[in-house]
Amino acid sequence: MVRQSGKWSITRRSVVLSLGTATLAACQTARLVPTQSRRPGVPVQLSPAFFDRSVVGLRPGRIGGFRLASDKLGEKLVVHNYGHGGDGYTLSWPCARWAADQISKTHPGSVGIIGAGVSGLTTAWLLAQRGINVSIYAEQFSPDTTSNIAGAIILTGPNYRSGENANSGPSDDAINADVIAGFTPFLIDPRYGVYWIDHFQMRPLRQDGQSTYEEFLGRRVTSKFRTIMVDPNLYLAALMQDLSAMGVQFWTKKFTTLGDLARLPHTALVNCSGLGAGILFDDENMYPIRGQLTLLKPQPEIDYSYISRQPGGILYMFPRRENIVLGGTHQRGNAHLLPEPDEAERQLRGHAELMASLRGVPRISPDDAQN
Ligand SMILES: Cc1cc2nc3c(=O)[nH]c(=O)nc-3n(C[C@H](O)[C@H](O)[C@H](O)COP(=O)(O)OP(=O)(O)OC[C@H]3O[C@@H](n4cnc5c(N)ncnc54)[C@H](O)[C@@H]3O)c2cc1C
Repeated sequence: MVRQSGKWSITRRSVVLSLGTATLAACQTARLVPTQSRRPGVPVQLSPAFFDRSVVGLRPGRIGGFRLASDKLGEKLVVHNYGHGGDGYTLSWPCARWAADQISKTHPGSVGIIGAGVSGLTTAWLLAQRGINVSIYAEQFSPDTTSNIAGAIILTGPNYRSGENANSGPSDDAINADVIAGFTPFLIDPRYGVYWIDHFQMRPLRQDGQSTYEEFLGRRVTSKFRTIMVDPNLYLAALMQDLSAMGVQFWTKKFTTLGDLARLPHTALVNCSGLGAGILFDDENMYPIRGQLTLLKPQPEIDYSYISRQPGGILYMFPRRENIVLGGTHQRGNAHLLPEPDEAERQLRGHAELMASLRGVPRISPDDAQN
């Protein structure tokens, strides 16, 4: 993605980099192999042998929050569903449901969805389930969308109805009720790569020497709960299979003007073009939020996730069936798609330090579960 005439133009969604041997050697000298756990619980293996690759994705940030709105393009109804920033998976089902409800009210003959990331596929899924004839148009499909890069943990928030959404769209309660409920039907079939996980929110080590329960991990655990993790590549591929089986058509197409959209043979469109909406719909509130992930080879024994606020920045670890994801980069306005070796090293060193101090990962009892 490059900036052109004050707007953002997408050239590539993601870039993959193999870390240079110099960085890996530096990691090795920093002794990234964690010490053996002294309590039950399995630490993440961070040695160079486990390194797979670094990837970068651009979250679709939007000043004023995500956009859910009904609009007109000539005679066509256009429902917008984009700009979810770092919460696109979390918000996918409630926002898709709201968008699908706006479309259903008009009883359209057929609907065109613009975009094949998580927003477009979930909206299409709900419409197709209601018997509506759906076509999806996108420049890129899975596995090449931003949605394939996401860490994809589901974390509910207290306040979505701010800015533009203060008086429109679903209520915070409706959103939060649907965040987990939307994913629940997919938990039963491993094909979707959706599963429950024990999640820990951590702060740096306490310095006051006081022994509290929170120091069980060698650091303060500010909260712990069960939530949902999504394996994006599995999930998006499975949704596309479902959609295909429901008769949804897929068309690879890049739209450059609204005139292109007006010519589509549908009475209603849903705009799920993510960051692309900035240019296509001239939304100047859109901006990229760069995220770099370090992917490690799969470690099936890791069945927990964490987010840790460290002095050098946020670090998170999410396990997937395909790999272990290390992340925490959050650079507003930065559309640089090449992975930066310094950031990969920050993540590897930071997680290694966390793991070295980890004394065991406790299981969460059902009583602790929030969800
Ligand atoms: C590193 C990283 C970590 C993340 N972690 C999480 C997380 O833990 N939890 C969470 O909830 N969210 C997370 N996110 C955010 C989440 O990934 C996004 O909010 C979400 O993927 C956006 O989905 P989308 O479908 O709206 O957009 P996208 O996935 O970007 O899809 C946009 C679609 O529109 C198409 N398109 C765009 N412009 C045009 C055009 N002009 N013509 C034709 N087609 C077009 C594209 O080709 C694509 O198919 C993360 C994101 C990143 C980058």
